[in-house]
Amino acid sequence: MTDWQALLSFDREHVWHPYAPVPAGQSALPVAGAEGVRLRLADGRRLIDGMSSWWCAIHGYKHPALDAAVEDQLGRFAHVMFGGLTHEPAVTLAQRLLDLAPPRLRHVFFADSGSVAVEIAIKMCLQAQRARGRPGRRLLTVRGGYHGDTFGAMAICDPVQGMHRLFAGVLAEHVFAERPPDGFEAQLDPAWAAHVQRLVAEHAHELAAIVLEPVVQGAGGMRFHSPACVALMRRLCDEHRLLLVLDEIATGFGRTGALFAYQHAGVTPDVLCLGKALTGGYLSLAATLCSAEVASAVSAGEGGALMHGPTFMANPLACSVALASLDLLSDGAWRQQVPAIERGLRDALAPARELPGVADVRVLGAIGVVQMEHEVDVTRATAAAIDRGVWLRPFRDLIYTMPPYVIDEEDLSAVADAVVAAVRAATS
Ligand code: PMP
Repeated sequence: MTDWQALLSFDREHVWHPYAPVPAGQSALPVAGAEGVRLRLADGRRLIDGMSSWWCAIHGYKHPALDAAVEDQLGRFAHVMFGGLTHEPAVTLAQRLLDLAPPRLRHVFFADSGSVAVEIAIKMCLQAQRARGRPGRRLLTVRGGYHGDTFGAMAICDPVQGMHRLFAGVLAEHVFAERPPDGFEAQLDPAWAAHVQRLVAEHAHELAAIVLEPVVQGAGGMRFHSPACVALMRRLCDEHRLLLVLDEIATGFGRTGALFAYQHAGVTPDVLCLGKALTGGYLSLAATLCSAEVASAVSAGEGGALMHGPTFMANPLACSVALASLDLLSDGAWRQQVPAIERGLRDALAPARELPGVADVRVLGAIGVVQMEHEVDVTRATAAAIDRGVWLRPFRDLIYTMPPYVIDEEDLSAVADAVVAAVRAATS
């Protein structure tokens, strides 16, 4: 029998949790199992996971096909180094990703987390531009973004909400444009476009690349912008011979209603970062895809190689489960599931607009967001959702959900009710 009291007490005192102090202010909830869209807590309560374990578990938990993929690979071998060795799951996964990606992207670098995929994207751009005789070492990005917690990635996160102040002097100082104006449906705002055009022209000589989360800014504020903003960035990159890096770690694999969010804009990046849902939420794996031009410039440049090589690069278990996840996506059910979630969330969250303290309600694909006028009391909001059998994890002024694609109508309605209950609890 697991002694949960003892585990929780040790956890609270000694184990770091994300963005938390030790000892933690509040004990974490102990999960004893997970199946379908539900987490089972140690005390037997079952909660619908409204967060998909931070965008990842798109097919739900304990999926037979995903379990089988891991078990099958485990029967062969769990891991081997990728330096000088290769294996079928990695090569097949690279082929499959390149088949899904636009033809411009020809090469894949496997990493072990989203943040590392972003570091690799930055290195690719800096090395490629240096090899092409462009000395610029800075990046241009927009405010309100989030790209990860490692130093390179942190430096392109929002400079106000991010950790720039805490790590001043260590973080690279990049160029920030204003946040893209709100609204997926919005036209390109001429004032914002002129601002970005000016900024890029002014700094082009010292820039290597533009980095952007296309269409949805995730952990930086859960905001949606027009695909026209992404298209503008592509045009500016072409005009000034800069590389375009799109970070689709959160948006990739159908979350916004398109397989990749850049498809809304009809553009293709030079470098693409993927992660999170890549393995259906089973194992940590990310990938940085790049064009033939980038890869050949890096390979012909100083050092003659890309300067990165994580120990767990292309882990075979992770690659195998990613292949099984792509198989599930290729059956196409997500093309009905994501729009159904979008419709369900639009209808059920609309009344939240009228609630006191609510600043905005927005839905895109399988993402529903209620933005409050103030910081949310996370403990109260979470407790209200749990009372309704749903797991939500609000942050800052945001109560939001991005459920697994396999959620049914009844469970989705429970998730939306829980979001509304959390909103009420956050204001009362
Ligand atoms: N980029 C984006 C857009 C993300 O949403 C995240 C994770 N929230 C990351 C990068 C970092 O990924 P990881 O947490 O796997 O390092």
